[in-house]
Amino acid sequence: MGYPVTLIRGDGIGPEVAKATQTAVDATGVPIDWKVVDAGVDVMEEYGTPLPEHVLDSIRETKVAIKGPITTPVGKGFRSVNVEIRKRLNLYANLRPAKSILGVRSFFSDIDVVVVRENTEDLYAGIEFTHDSPEGAEARDCLSRLSGKAIREDSAIGVKPISVEGSRRIVEFAFKHAQAFGRKKVTAVHKANIMKFTDGLFLEVSREVAKSYPDIEYEDRIVDNMCMQLMQKPELYEVLVMPNLYGDILSDLCAGMIGGLGVAPGANIGDEYAVFEAIHGSAPKYAGQNRANPTALILSGVLMLQHLGEIDAAERLQQAVEAIIGEKKHVTYDLALPGTQPVGTQEMAEAIATRLS
Ligand code: NAD
Repeated sequence: MGYPVTLIRGDGIGPEVAKATQTAVDATGVPIDWKVVDAGVDVMEEYGTPLPEHVLDSIRETKVAIKGPITTPVGKGFRSVNVEIRKRLNLYANLRPAKSILGVRSFFSDIDVVVVRENTEDLYAGIEFTHDSPEGAEARDCLSRLSGKAIREDSAIGVKPISVEGSRRIVEFAFKHAQAFGRKKVTAVHKANIMKFTDGLFLEVSREVAKSYPDIEYEDRIVDNMCMQLMQKPELYEVLVMPNLYGDILSDLCAGMIGGLGVAPGANIGDEYAVFEAIHGSAPKYAGQNRANPTALILSGVLMLQHLGEIDAAERLQQAVEAIIGEKKHVTYDLALPGTQPVGTQEMAEAIATRLS
């Protein structure tokens, strides 16, 4: 019996990149006992929900999942399945490594940073009031009274909770990640000069946690300065840890620095469970065409192998992906050189698998 792993195929290009990932991960020789389940728009009719309970139960049982992207209808329909999975399983850490791959077009080279994003708090907590509701009016009155500051009558209100516990566990996670992967420095990113109590608390807790890791250098950066520094001196940074909103933005910035969504992996990790997924979405316009680049989900598979303790296999898979991309012979349309023939999603995965065997 291999490692039990839940595979959520997703929708749009999800099933194709998921199959490609299975092919590549299996080729490492690490035995995986795949439990294949489905979520998203395609199961709505059958189960009446895009996230059937048996999908969550499967992850609770296997503890580890890898997932293809899932469509979220804009402005109507169901809430994001991706966000729901993170919430229901308390996956508080979002890990997004950005590492340059030779052969992927980018303005930058030699990028090797990891963004650790808090996944549960901040302006993403979902506590919002519309500008024209009685709740909005009450929130304005209450906040005005408590803060002594006027709030315009036509304002919508959003709340930014940042807790000691939420900050501590994400900063601890960042330092432990740095320790496990031989990283020398952790940088906390914030805007504590303006948001003195919320980001200020995150910064205070970060400094406190850093004292327990004397072997790892610690510093902090204000988020706007951090963006500029990443453009100018990215080599100075290794592990960046930050609250939810800054993490969302900076991780896409870093993904852009390594050549975009097609090659950017990710993971959502909690104390009990871990769900690995690409940063990109379901790219519906490419669904069913065997065109999508499978690299991001295959590299999420590298993160999964690391999580399972299969460090050697993870390294071999990473190298096989880099070799295939570097050679440019068996790559999808977005990585192919002009005038050359791209291959399909599955063919790229098979080239990676062949390289491993
Ligand atoms: P998207 O990432 O799906 O696509 C944006 C564009 O990026 C595509 O049109 C395509 O040109 C390119 N692209 C993305 N992935 C690619 C790949 N693997 N290979 C080649 N090209 C690729 O973003 P979107 O259009 O904003 O979102 C589509 C749907 O996906 C939405 O419903 C959104 O909610 C959902 N989404 C899901 C996740 C997730 O499952 N975690 C993440 C982001 C977006």
